[in-house]
Amino acid sequence: MTTVKKSVAVLGLGSMGTALAGALLAAGHQVTVWNRTPGKAEGLVARGARSVDSVAEAVAAAEVVIVCILDYGDIGPLLEQPGAAWQGRVVVNVTNGSPEEARAMAQRVTALGAAYLDGGIMAVPALIGGPQAFVLYSGSREAFEAHRDLLDAFARSVYLGEDPGLAPLNDLALLSAMYGMFGGFAHAAALVRSAGGPVAEFTTTLLLPWLQAMAGGLPAMAAQVDAGDYATTGSPLAMQVAHDAIGDVSRAQGVSPELFAPVLALMRRRVADGHGSEDFAGVVELLDPR
Ligand code: NDP
Repeated sequence: MTTVKKSVAVLGLGSMGTALAGALLAAGHQVTVWNRTPGKAEGLVARGARSVDSVAEAVAAAEVVIVCILDYGDIGPLLEQPGAAWQGRVVVNVTNGSPEEARAMAQRVTALGAAYLDGGIMAVPALIGGPQAFVLYSGSREAFEAHRDLLDAFARSVYLGEDPGLAPLNDLALLSAMYGMFGGFAHAAALVRSAGGPVAEFTTTLLLPWLQAMAGGLPAMAAQVDAGDYATTGSPLAMQVAHDAIGDVSRAQGVSPELFAPVLALMRRRVADGHGSEDFAGVVELLDPR
């Protein structure tokens, strides 16, 4: 629970910036908001925010400045707005970008005399302020520790380290795992639908319990990756790729196997490289050869 009320500015009132500003207001902070296009602040103003017409006014009013706009490339001009005095501020940039962009932004912001935190929001706007959301942070540890109470208004705050690139890297790693799951769902749904089955019932009664059981094995797979030791625990790759059963049934049903094909190709390459008696996690060695 927040005990210290702070002055904070939010630059960018798209759907995410508006949700973040709303969470700060709900936590009792003094919130100043700015958006490039006027007219998006009414709801927040009605809840107690102060709307200003320039970045300079927003920065002047706040010790912490949250930046939440669409593209990283558009942040530079905001930093250069006439009269904006960044010295002594803490900039928390939750705009999605790459690790390289985050490192370059950290240099640019610290050169202006401000502290820098990069953030990766693991939530959609509706989840901000709720128990399921979390936000990854990297950059100035001092700034994170000083303002953690404020950041916790958004979601559970997870600090990853001083390298500003860590938050975007981990954010994108989580999204890649999410898309893997979505891809698996799409193929499974196509197969079930091709046989006339209701996808909703299949998903609740079979798919979710199956994925939950399989997710329980991920920590053991992660330990194999960290150790570089993929000795099989019961399902060796050679057995798994002995037949392309998923491809065969897909083609027979008129379903495209294109989502599963690259995974199968990696597994087969690993077997061809002499690792048929190892577990699936060994494909990491093909993705990240070192
Ligand atoms: P929206 O499209 O809803 O809003 C975009 C915001 O960026 C608007 O405030 C817009 O201002 C502003 N903007 C765009 N270009 C410029 C510019 N050149 N100068 C100043 N402001 C500009 O996007 P979201 O709010 O959803 O997303 C914002 C950031 O949050 C993105 O980086 C996104 O990846 C990230 N994010 C979003 C999530 C989501 O589910 N929405 C989830 C996690 C992260 P204007 O009103 O003037 O157009």
